[in-house]
Amino acid sequence: MATTKYIFVTGGVTSSLGKGIISASLAKLLQARGYKVTIQKLDPYINVDPGTLNPYEHGECYVTEDGAETDLDLGHYERFLNVFTSQANSVTTGRIYQDVINKERRGDFLGKTVQIIPHITDEIKRHVKLLGGKNKYDFVVTEIGGTVGDIESLPYIEAVRQLRWELRSRCMVIHLTLVPYLAASGELKTKPTQHSVKTLQEAGVQPDVLVLRTEHPLNSEIRNKVANFCNVQKEAVVESQDVKTIYEVPIEMQKEKLDELALKHFNMDVGSKPDLKLWKDFLKKLNAPKYNIKIALVGKYVELKDAYKSINESFIHAGAANETKVDVEYIHSESLVQNNFEDILKGFEGIIVTPGFGQRGIAGKILAVKYARENNIPFLGICLGMQCAVIEFAQNVLKLEDANSIEMNRKCKNPVISIMEEQKMVTEKGGTMRLGSYPCKLLRDSNAYRAYKTLKINERHRHRYEFNNKYQEMFSKAGMVATGINPETKLVEIIEIPKHKWFVGVQFHPEYKSTVTNPHPIFVGFVKAIIENNI
Ligand code: GLN
Repeated sequence: MATTKYIFVTGGVTSSLGKGIISASLAKLLQARGYKVTIQKLDPYINVDPGTLNPYEHGECYVTEDGAETDLDLGHYERFLNVFTSQANSVTTGRIYQDVINKERRGDFLGKTVQIIPHITDEIKRHVKLLGGKNKYDFVVTEIGGTVGDIESLPYIEAVRQLRWELRSRCMVIHLTLVPYLAASGELKTKPTQHSVKTLQEAGVQPDVLVLRTEHPLNSEIRNKVANFCNVQKEAVVESQDVKTIYEVPIEMQKEKLDELALKHFNMDVGSKPDLKLWKDFLKKLNAPKYNIKIALVGKYVELKDAYKSINESFIHAGAANETKVDVEYIHSESLVQNNFEDILKGFEGIIVTPGFGQRGIAGKILAVKYARENNIPFLGICLGMQCAVIEFAQNVLKLEDANSIEMNRKCKNPVISIMEEQKMVTEKGGTMRLGSYPCKLLRDSNAYRAYKTLKINERHRHRYEFNNKYQEMFSKAGMVATGINPETKLVEIIEIPKHKWFVGVQFHPEYKSTVTNPHPIFVGFVKAIIENNI
């Protein structure tokens, strides 16, 4: 008998209220009670996946083990739950339509007119149920992207309405809204919440629990009022006050009994409290750091906080592991030029050069590498950041004329970064990079090995270009060594300068695999190197 329970999280009033964090927090609390939980994001845009979206549009693109390019909320899910997500955890309207249209072309609909209801809604429901299939999970938490009332969200809300009927007591809806504070009158206002719930009700969905984002505590009167107007129990009005860090949210949600509300809704035993020991240990360290370090993050999307989301979170995890507060200051790579880069980078205790694509900002990134290398400042280069470290070394140490990446200059004389063989014939943009998890073997005498403490690792990728192995010997003789190599393809995954205090470039993305209870060894090693350098 199917027993998986489905929890839907919708949002109202405004976007960016933190549905992803609320979903991840509830999932964390249920997981900490011993349940198997997964989270899914349904995104109402027509891109098939966010892989082709500019970070300015949608923040970082998060990559899963199986190589899906997904929404950054999946990063939160993994960071909170410490379990891998996959392609099945991220679905967009584009993918839904693509699947339906493919079926139509195959003739699967037997001449029927293909419509939003039932064909699109059926496909949405199929994706939701597929994830929970065969009772693999006790709970599937599905976050519906967008805001209730948007045209784009309608098919999803309709699918939720239908699923309530199909799944009956195995289905629950949580609606997240905002209670704004009007400073002029000193009041919290519930009207937007009332309207938002009404919109949901008009679509045939009655929420079971309301989570209200607020800057100030909600008093009993407000909770009563919302319960009254919105058809929910007073206990089912949950306060979500702004907190210092997203990692406090599970604790706050536990105080508000969000997990108990879910269990009671499903007629399940509430039993003992969730075991949040590891989580609380992390928070303790996060809130009482012994050291403070300052890192420069050099990238070209610095105007947008979410563009380097996973890197920032990785520093929070690695900082806590080292009992250190890591201040990450964003530096626009285009602002670094020959006559100012030393002044701008002076005083930073570590430098990170970020992933990216294309020529814009490359010169500044190369100057940042040069500064870190020449001044013995701990350095981490990720993906394009690693490639910049290789180019900088080729230009300034090996003195190779016109050394570059083929990505930046197709005709350069010394393509120290070249296009991967398998990429040469690729013309389509979406989902065609080298994506997902690949193995890598480490050299024992390396910072990488000292960080990982194991010789065989697996890391996630998202790139088309690679270190050109023709140059490996030349680099190695001059002091830049390949310390991590893919055992099958021989692709260089890590470069280091052993003479330097800590200089590591990685072709993969360690930031995708850092979680609260499993901070990533590369970030932990980087932060540790900076602290040791300071002592
Ligand atoms: N643009 C580079 C490549 O495709 C690096 C990609 C990245 O930083 N994710 O190889």
